Amino acid sequence: MSLISRLPEVEEFLSRVQPLRIDGAEVAGSSELDVVDPSSGSVISRVAGAGAAQVDMAVAAARAALSGPWGRLSPHDRGRLIWNLAELIEARKAIFGQLDALDNGKPFAVARDVDAVWSARHFRYFAGWPDKIEGATIPVSTPNRLNHTRIEPMGVCGLITPWNYPTLMVAWKLAPALAAGNTIVLKPAEQTPLSALYLADLALEAGFPPGVLNVVPGLGGDAGAALAAHPGVDKIGFTGSTATGRQIVMASAGNLKKVSLELGGKAANIIFADADLERAVPGAFWALFGNNGQSCTAGARLFVHRSVHDQVLDGLRKLAEGLSVGPGMDLKGHDLGPVISRVQMDKVLGYIADGRTGGAQCIAGGGRLGDTGWFVQPTILAGVSDDMRVAREEIFGPVLCVLPFDDEDEVLARANDSEYGLAAGCWTRNAGCVARMGAGLHAGTVWINCWGDTDAASPFGGMGQSGYGREMGRDALALYTQTKSVWQGL
Ligand code: ADP
Repeated sequence: MSLISRLPEVEEFLSRVQPLRIDGAEVAGSSELDVVDPSSGSVISRVAGAGAAQVDMAVAAARAALSGPWGRLSPHDRGRLIWNLAELIEARKAIFGQLDALDNGKPFAVARDVDAVWSARHFRYFAGWPDKIEGATIPVSTPNRLNHTRIEPMGVCGLITPWNYPTLMVAWKLAPALAAGNTIVLKPAEQTPLSALYLADLALEAGFPPGVLNVVPGLGGDAGAALAAHPGVDKIGFTGSTATGRQIVMASAGNLKKVSLELGGKAANIIFADADLERAVPGAFWALFGNNGQSCTAGARLFVHRSVHDQVLDGLRKLAEGLSVGPGMDLKGHDLGPVISRVQMDKVLGYIADGRTGGAQCIAGGGRLGDTGWFVQPTILAGVSDDMRVAREEIFGPVLCVLPFDDEDEVLARANDSEYGLAAGCWTRNAGCVARMGAGLHAGTVWINCWGDTDAASPFGGMGQSGYGREMGRDALALYTQTKSVWQGL
């Protein structure tokens, strides 16, 4: 196997312990964290880890930056800085691609052309917003009064992001938060801190004043918990597990900071008898195996009408057997990389074993791949019933559960029988069924005859225990602004 050569900038980045980025400066942490390449299991670099003291410093810097040059910038100029950042990300997409391929393990081409390029597009979309965040003049009934609203930034926003899309999940939160005029303390996932640190340097290059974007990698229970509980933080934007989301809500109670949460999922995907199977089978396959199953929107519960069940299963098995799995930086280029860590690999393998013990049949994969790095064979479990743990809990790995069904009312009820509600979808050519599923599926996003589409302009978020708040589009601005009502006697 030969690996893609690392770019000189990437070599340089990995060659020293990356410090925290606070107030435009490099700052030492209270610990050091290993950065592991999940394709090899070896340590590729180290970064500083923040503790409570460094989080304090970062929050103070962000607070001060609110009343500095950033706070006085015109909306036009704020938009221009965000646009500059988008251009820099796109110009350096290969660097972002390599950093994400190295610490996350995903294929380099995907990290560069999807994660980095879409992040740039996200910043570009929000670059257009600062001068369009309008208040209103309200026709109040009191005589001699003028009432208008101002849409103001929240203040200091703590952003806590996961490891599955290291650059993109940062972009989803950072772009609207900046467009609204906030300042930021960003805590990236401890497994994948590299691209967030690099982004902090690009923000300075783009012209953002020091203190607007501070980046403090660290452990969740350490830097993350300190940020979530900090009295100087006005808002937390979080993406991660439902269990951690709950802890963040509790930690936020001290100063009643605002919280938005994008949490776990166990999406139902339904193939009806009349579906165009040429599209539905690969569509349902990639709905789960995209990003190696490590997406909160993964189509993890695939309901298939009994009349096409065996045909669909056969198609899925062939696709799984044709997949190539290997290191993200392999020159050959693979469809999928490893899962993020040994802990995650053991968890995924545990779920597969549990499904088999419960009576599911493994029709593809089922085990670890090789003995170097954290690779799991793309796995398909058939004969899964609704009450099995593999059908109820989020696995977050390459394991697709297939469940047969007989009629529409039955499958809708079964699809909605989940504590989660992030995404759901179906494949059908029946217009009535399309309308009933669009309305009936309990999820923040419903995909019909497609899967996984997102757009900076279209709202995204969860129902039920998949969280609250909608990222992207104009809804995202609501997460990072607050409305003030101003009365004036005439
Ligand atoms: P996972 O279990 O998949 O790693 P988490 O929800 O634990 O998902 O992680 C998502 C993000 O939340 C990471 O940046 C992590 O460090 C952070 N995190 C974990 N625990 C806490 C916590 N108690 N408070 C704040 N952030 C946390």
